[in-house]
Amino acid sequence: MQRHTYDAIVIGAGHNGLCLAAYLQRAGLSTLVVERRHEEGGGVNTEEPVRAGFRHNLHAQYMEFFDVMPMITDFGLEDLGLRTVTPEAQAGIVFPDDRPPIILHRPDLLERTRASIARYSATDADRYVEMKRRAASLEGLVAANLYSLPVAQTLEDQGGLLEGMFGDLGVSANFVTKSPRAVIDELFETSELRALLYRASVEWGAPLEEAGLGGMFVTFVMWTMANWKLCLGGTHTLAKAMTQACYREGVDLLENTSVDSIMVEGGRAVGVRARGTEYRAERLVASNADLRQTLLELVGPDHLSDHWIQRSEAFRYGPSHVLGTTAWCLRDAPAYRAAAIDPDIDRCFYTVVGFEDAADVLRYVRDAYGGRLPMRAAAGTWVNSLWDRAQAPTGHHAATGWFFLPKASELSAAEWADVRATHDDRLLAEWNRVAPNMTMDNVVAHRLYTPDQMERKNLMREGDFSNGGFSLDQVGVNRPFPEAANYRTEIDGLYLCGPSAYPGGGVHAACGYNAFKAIAEDFELPSPAVADRGY
Ligand SMILES: Cc1cc2nc3c(=O)[nH]c(=O)nc-3n(C[C@H](O)[C@H](O)[C@H](O)COP(=O)(O)OP(=O)(O)OC[C@H]3O[C@@H](n4cnc5c(N)ncnc54)[C@H](O)[C@@H]3O)c2cc1C
Repeated sequence: MQRHTYDAIVIGAGHNGLCLAAYLQRAGLSTLVVERRHEEGGGVNTEEPVRAGFRHNLHAQYMEFFDVMPMITDFGLEDLGLRTVTPEAQAGIVFPDDRPPIILHRPDLLERTRASIARYSATDADRYVEMKRRAASLEGLVAANLYSLPVAQTLEDQGGLLEGMFGDLGVSANFVTKSPRAVIDELFETSELRALLYRASVEWGAPLEEAGLGGMFVTFVMWTMANWKLCLGGTHTLAKAMTQACYREGVDLLENTSVDSIMVEGGRAVGVRARGTEYRAERLVASNADLRQTLLELVGPDHLSDHWIQRSEAFRYGPSHVLGTTAWCLRDAPAYRAAAIDPDIDRCFYTVVGFEDAADVLRYVRDAYGGRLPMRAAAGTWVNSLWDRAQAPTGHHAATGWFFLPKASELSAAEWADVRATHDDRLLAEWNRVAPNMTMDNVVAHRLYTPDQMERKNLMREGDFSNGGFSLDQVGVNRPFPEAANYRTEIDGLYLCGPSAYPGGGVHAACGYNAFKAIAEDFELPSPAVADRGY
């Protein structure tokens, strides 16, 4: 029977909410998670949105943090069904003429990466491989930064690290003040390689032309690059394993229930109201929902200071991290013309199609960021059924792709409907130029899912999966704003545990894990296994 009083209530069963709930319950706090959708996981989901039997990850595709994510080991998620594969050829780009593809392989196969880039430039090949090798050695540092409350670092400290580690490869301390694009252009001469790196940088929330995020490209983006796992059974298996971990600890989960308000008494969060029922929290409430919903809608301005209202209203969503997902049910996987030069391209985990060169990617990103539909329907594409036959019916394949698109509010409902009706056809035309078998004859069905739909389905405001754009004033200790950077709010007992907080979007569960650390400090709870791994 559902109780109505708990020690802790978590709003939202995204993977961050689930992570926080599991640690809270293990630390001895009876915990309830309230989720508005019919299933747990939020953006960590897999569906059959087009045809039965064809599975698509409509949001998160590649898993880049599993080697360092504390919850996986602390709660034995592999014993609860989490299984992955790490394809050898990871990220590729193909061109609509006779140019060779560029393929970035797994970190243990860097010589193959070197050979691929060297088709264009031996200098770029050597520099990329050495930068990747050194960025991989930063794993402990990246993990410690991710899974700790953010700390302020001076530009001198950041620049010193960059120059110390990468100085002989052409990286200077002042790269921390540059934009990712300036860094990529300064380090790599090949337009085709720049195109792939531009694309990866934007995906990883280092907006190309944002001055001050150049250091993030050299360290974080280079570390995550081509270090990606696929969840067997779909990304959903992570959410399932996390949900089971919560049940095993004793967490209560309430689905199909949207929280309407957070109850505040005497400046303290004391519970939530959902569908006319009050659930009391004797110690704390934490929110996996975005900043503005949590503070301005669920708490409400009456309980907030003018300063916090102003800060919340000023927090910006998008244009970084706004994607559209296109889902394709195919007979055959794309067979690229470039496979005649490098057969690995036909088994590349992530393949970018539709761009001519770096300038093309730049134009495309400027359009999307500027609120215009990019004229070229270029996409990053995945065919997960190549590694996991369960993801498509026998004799078929399931492909998924990402477009960078304007944020949800930039287009009207009618304009988004038009994008859904037309943009896929334009992608197919691009695909066909690089993979001749990509014609309508090879397509069983397809469907495009746009940012306005993501906003409605998952309450990812503006379709921004980071629940807040990335720019210098909204990252690190400034996220979401300096006074709220440690997961705490001005309401006693109310915490943030979603990607509006540091470090932002991505399937790392760091927002939930770090929120637990802040709560553990405040309530003197036992900490996770920090001593064993250092974070
Ligand atoms: C197209 C796309 C591709 C992506 N690809 C990748 C990728 O390849 N790799 C990667 O690492 N990340 C990727 N991401 C990002 C990743 O999916 C998100 O950053 C991540 O899922 C955020 O997790 P979360 O748990 O914090 O929040 P969410 O997943 O947004 O979950 C929040 C939950 O809170 C619930 N909720 C909100 N308000 C209420 C309320 N009032 N009451 C009750 N419940 C509420 C929502 O229903 C939801 O379930 C992608 C995202 C998108 C959109």
